[in-house]
Amino acid sequence: MNDLKPHYDVVILGGGPAGLAAAIAIRTANINSHTNTNTSVLVVERQAPGQERLGENCPPEIVLLLKQLGVAKEFHQDNHETCPGYASVWGRPTPGYNDFIVNPLGPSWRLNRTAFDQMLANKAESTGAQIAWSTRFIGSEPRSNSSTTNSSNNNSSNNNAANEHEKAAHTLLLKFGSQTHPQVVTAGFVIDATGSKARFARTLNIHKTIDDQLFATVRFAKLAEGSQGTSSKQIQLEATQDGWCYQTLLPEEKVVSMFVSEREIIPQLREGCHQGFDQALSSTTFIGPKADKLKLTDATYHSCAIYSGVLPTVEGHNWMAIGDAAMSFDPISAQGIYKGLSHGLMAGTKVKSWLENGDETTSKFSEQIQAQYKVYQKNRSHMYGLEQRWKDSDFWRRRIS
Ligand SMILES: Cc1cc2nc3c(=O)[nH]c(=O)nc-3n(C[C@H](O)[C@H](O)[C@H](O)COP(=O)(O)OP(=O)(O)OC[C@H]3O[C@@H](n4cnc5c(N)ncnc54)[C@H](O)[C@@H]3O)c2cc1C
Repeated sequence: MNDLKPHYDVVILGGGPAGLAAAIAIRTANINSHTNTNTSVLVVERQAPGQERLGENCPPEIVLLLKQLGVAKEFHQDNHETCPGYASVWGRPTPGYNDFIVNPLGPSWRLNRTAFDQMLANKAESTGAQIAWSTRFIGSEPRSNSSTTNSSNNNSSNNNAANEHEKAAHTLLLKFGSQTHPQVVTAGFVIDATGSKARFARTLNIHKTIDDQLFATVRFAKLAEGSQGTSSKQIQLEATQDGWCYQTLLPEEKVVSMFVSEREIIPQLREGCHQGFDQALSSTTFIGPKADKLKLTDATYHSCAIYSGVLPTVEGHNWMAIGDAAMSFDPISAQGIYKGLSHGLMAGTKVKSWLENGDETTSKFSEQIQAQYKVYQKNRSHMYGLEQRWKDSDFWRRRIS
């Protein structure tokens, strides 16, 4: 059972990279500020700590964000591994190689996701944020407009729990585990970091504009005794007639393989059809033979829909959406975790301004998101446009403009 207070200055819904980075940024700014306020921050995360998460490949630039979040040292102490570059069969039948040697920030990273998530959660808690694990946000009610301003910049005489509750902008319904009755918590400011479904924005009737929908099946496995050290540390990428696939080694002798297509095009990749996944991967010309050579144990499979989309507005009365909740990308971009951390830092700036100036402050965050989404669309078109071998297949026809 979570020990929740009735009111928090800031409630962050979702404890992925974006939500945890936001918690760190807000609490760190609060600790470093000269005001005597103690901004209370709650992160609500429906999963239990340590659960397997998707996404492990990060660009070299991630180290800059980790530095800003104050976790660079911890990151380098954990067992994440660098990645020398890409080996890809994309746009032609033979492999091409792209190395990171010319990037001054060094190579890209293959994360140990469990350690990475744990590092962010530890940092958030050490700065004073509370994390409610296994707790699901199930609904919200906006409060009256008379109670609009933040509660932390009021003088101490009226800064008591009752007043804070009265001045809260949002009422949130949270369910812990299999609890039947939701717990009510009020918040001065809400950050929607619930991932691509943007659960909080939905309750405000704000829905994403979706411009592409894919389906991915991912296999995580351990390399069996004798199979270790037999595969390259490059990220392997291969376009196929019906989509694309990806494989890379991970820390702790693990390997991740992924097939991305559309739900209707490769029905055997759908949830529960894992044999179909192994066959589809095996039939590819570049990754397939490499995958077949690996002796794997403890394989787990995950299937999910992937939406490329952006919210028409990512901020409003005492709330904002960040990370995948604000805009979600095709994993071909390998930008999702980086984006989550950078939005978390931006949330820190926005909340600081809200604490100091109230909700009147205009922010450029929405404009930045729309601009970032346009850049993403352009890059995605470029990437898919490089592959012209199957212009008539359903998958490529829909993506080559
Ligand atoms: C198959 C696949 C492969 C990918 N590979 C990569 C990769 O290699 N590199 C990369 O950078 N990105 C990758 N991504 C994208 C990346 O995973 C996301 O962009 C990134 O995790 C976004 O972070 P986030 O914090 O915004 O959202 P998320 O990581 O989705 O976190 C949202 C959190 O909110 C929680 N949540 C949701 N609803 C509720 C609720 N109602 N109540 C409470 N909590 C809730 C979820 O449990 C989750 O922990 C991949 C994505 C997919 C689907």
